[in-house]
Amino acid sequence: ADVTMYAAKSAGGRPRLYDPSLDVFTHRRLALAAELRTALHRGDLEVRYQPRLRLADRKVLGVEALARWAHPELGPVPPQEFIPIAEEAGLIDELTRIVLERAIADAIRWHRDGQQIELSVNISARSVMDPAFPAHVTEVLRRTAFPADMLTLEVTESSMLTDPVRAVATLEALARMGVRLAIDDFGTGFSSMAYLKRLPLHEIKVDQGFVRHMLTDDNDRVIVQSIVDLAHNLGMSCVAEGVEDDETVLALMALGCEEAQGYLWSDPLPADELFTWLSTSAPRAPEVELQVLTDG
Ligand code: C2E
Ligand code: MG
Ligand code: MG
Ligand code: MG
Repeated sequence: ADVTMYAAKSAGGRPRLYDPSLDVFTHRRLALAAELRTALHRGDLEVRYQPRLRLADRKVLGVEALARWAHPELGPVPPQEFIPIAEEAGLIDELTRIVLERAIADAIRWHRDGQQIELSVNISARSVMDPAFPAHVTEVLRRTAFPADMLTLEVTESSMLTDPVRAVATLEALARMGVRLAIDDFGTGFSSMAYLKRLPLHEIKVDQGFVRHMLTDDNDRVIVQSIVDLAHNLGMSCVAEGVEDDETVLALMALGCEEAQGYLWSDPLPADELFTWLSTSAPRAPEVELQVLTDG
C-alpha cells in the first residue's frame, strides 16, 4: 500500500524486498544493541527487587531481581524490549552475569544487616543452553560464599524448547549444586508436561495474565487452580505473579497457592529502598501486629 518497497540485490544476487518501516525497526534495534553494550560496560544497568510473600502470614520470603535500563535519550527501555536485543546481539551472557553478581552482592548486604531473604534471578534461554553456565554460577557462589539454597534461578518453558536434552543437562547441574529452580510465566509457553517430571524443579510461577482476571473469568480461575494443583502434586511450591488487590489474595489462598508477588505490596525497588521497605513497611504477620499492640 503506502509502504514503498523496491527490490535490492543481496550478497547472493537474489532480489529481496526492502521495507523502510522494517528498516526503522531494525535501525532502532541495532542502535539499542550498540548502546546496551556501552551501558553494560559502563555499569549503567540497574537491578530492582520485588518482594515475594508467603500468603499465610504475609512474611517476605525473598525478592526477584529485575533488570532496568534507562537510555540517556529514550528514557527507560522495558526488559521486554532489551532482553531480546541482548540475546540477539550476543550480550545476554554478560547481562546475566552482571545481574547475578549485583543481586548477590546486594543480598549479602541485606543478610549482613539482618534481613535473611532469598534471591531469585531470571535466566534467559541462552544461559539454559550454555554448558558453561553452571560452572559460572558455582564460581560466583564460591567467591561470594552466598548459600546456593538461597538462590532461585527462574527459567521460562520456552527456553527448554530448542534443545530439551541440553536444557535438562544444565538444569540438573545447577540443581546438583543446591540452587533452586523455578519455571517462570507458567502456562504461556508451548511445552509439554513431560519435562516437568524429569526436571529438578522447586517452584512454578503462575503467569500474571491468568492471575489478573481470575476474579472475573472462570476459565482463568480454573487454570490457576490447575497450575496450583499440578505444582503441589509434583512436590513444588506455587507463586502467583502480578497480584494487585486483596480480593485476588483471598482467591489465591482459597485455591491453596502459598506465595505471591505484585504491586499490591511493592513495585520492584532499588536495593537500598528495598532494604528500607523490608525494615519499615513490609507487611507483618498478625501475631507480630498483636504483639506490637499489647506492648504499646
Ligand atoms: P518476569 O520474570 O515474569 O517478571 C515479572 C514482571 O512483572 C516484571 O516486569 C515486574 O515488574 C512485573 N510485575 C510485578 N508485579 C506486577 C503487578 O502487580 N502487575 C503487573 N502488571 N506487573 C507486575 P519487568 O520488570 O518489566 O520484566 C519483564 C520480564 O523481563 C520479566 O518477566 C523477565 O522475563 C524479563 N527480565 C527482567 N529482568 C531480567 C534479567 O535480568 N534477565 C532476564 N533474562 N530476563 C529479565
Ligand atoms: Mg521472573
Ligand atoms: Mg513471570
Ligand atoms: Mg513475564
